[in-house]
Amino acid sequence: TTEIYYDDDADVSTLDDETVAVLGYGSQGHAHALNLHESGVDVIVGLREGSASRDAAEADGLTVATPAEAVKQAGYISVLVPDTVQASVYENAIEPNLEAGDTLQFAHGLNIHYGQIEPPEDVDVSMVAPKSPGHLVRRNYENDEGTPGLLAVYQDTTGDAEKRALAYAKAIGCTRAGVIETNFQEEVESDLFGEQAVLCGGVTSLVKHGYETLVDAGYSPEIAYFECLNELKLIVDLMYEGGHAEMWDSVSDTAEYGGLSRGDRIVDEHVRENMEETLEEIQNGEFTREWILENQAGRPSYTQLRQAEKNHEIEEVGARLRDLFAWAEEDSPEEEDDSVR
Ligand code: NDP
Ligand code: MG
Ligand code: MG
Repeated sequence: TTEIYYDDDADVSTLDDETVAVLGYGSQGHAHALNLHESGVDVIVGLREGSASRDAAEADGLTVATPAEAVKQAGYISVLVPDTVQASVYENAIEPNLEAGDTLQFAHGLNIHYGQIEPPEDVDVSMVAPKSPGHLVRRNYENDEGTPGLLAVYQDTTGDAEKRALAYAKAIGCTRAGVIETNFQEEVESDLFGEQAVLCGGVTSLVKHGYETLVDAGYSPEIAYFECLNELKLIVDLMYEGGHAEMWDSVSDTAEYGGLSRGDRIVDEHVRENMEETLEEIQNGEFTREWILENQAGRPSYTQLRQAEKNHEIEEVGARLRDLFAWAEEDSPEEEDDSVR
């Protein structure tokens, strides 16, 4: 059975005598720093000299220092710079300034789980991972609402790692909604799998294949766009509210029979085998090795894949349609964020 924590299980005053360094002021960083600050926690934001985010953090009334200086002043370090730079920020700014008994905290366990960061034995290592993009973590907090999150302890030297992480989770608003206890391995591997196989990779590929099948058969791109991409949101909203059952209840009997009888033919055992292979590459570290090398090489494949995706016809058709119709305006998410971690 999974442990879930709420406000009553956490006490922000645990951090009363503590200074929390929030490294990074991007999607997660700005939300954590502001929510902590407004919950009464002493916060110092760590950003490079000349950093573009410095002005924003200062304008928001927060204290800003270099990452090294922030780590020096704090006993609780929240690492919220992008995953791809964490190892170098750790080496240059964090490690030299860590003290025994400090807490090193992440919002995603990638660098710890795959050994890119190896903290000393005398610090606590934990994770508080809101399951939501930063702008929602912030907006929910401001609206007295919560953001569900995950909590994990990788290393507990003080004996207080869990208690301190819970205090942090409460201060950013996560225990209002509920915080699920997990471990670094489960968080990282399931997160990578979800985004690759289903949420980001799987779903865009499914949409493109559907769109191309219709257009190649002579149907109009506009109709194909509506059928294969636009309506997806309405279907997912129903699934989000009440699972598959609510979706099946809401569509026509024809859609239900067609979907139930054809779905497993489209996404078949072969796709399942591909998913298992993808999971294996995550578990054995092959994916992460590839991603680290890709970054070291200046992201050549990533750049190419991104460009190809942008050049896909469905993007041009979609942009044109979203301009022509009124629905897109209210619904389009704020641009700053990538929601899936
Ligand atoms: P962002 O890409 O939004 O972080 C950008 C911030 O990091 C900026 O303030 C930037 O400052 C700073 N930064 C970038 N490079 C450096 C560097 N070399 N040294 C110092 N500061 C640097 O990150 P996210 O918020 O997306 O992700 C942070 C962590 O949270 C990650 O571990 C991620 O996996 C996790 N997470 C993210 C979620 C999300 O929705 N985005 C959801 C849940 C977890 P500058 O202006 O100087 O570039
Ligand atoms: Mg239909
Ligand atoms: Mg992810």
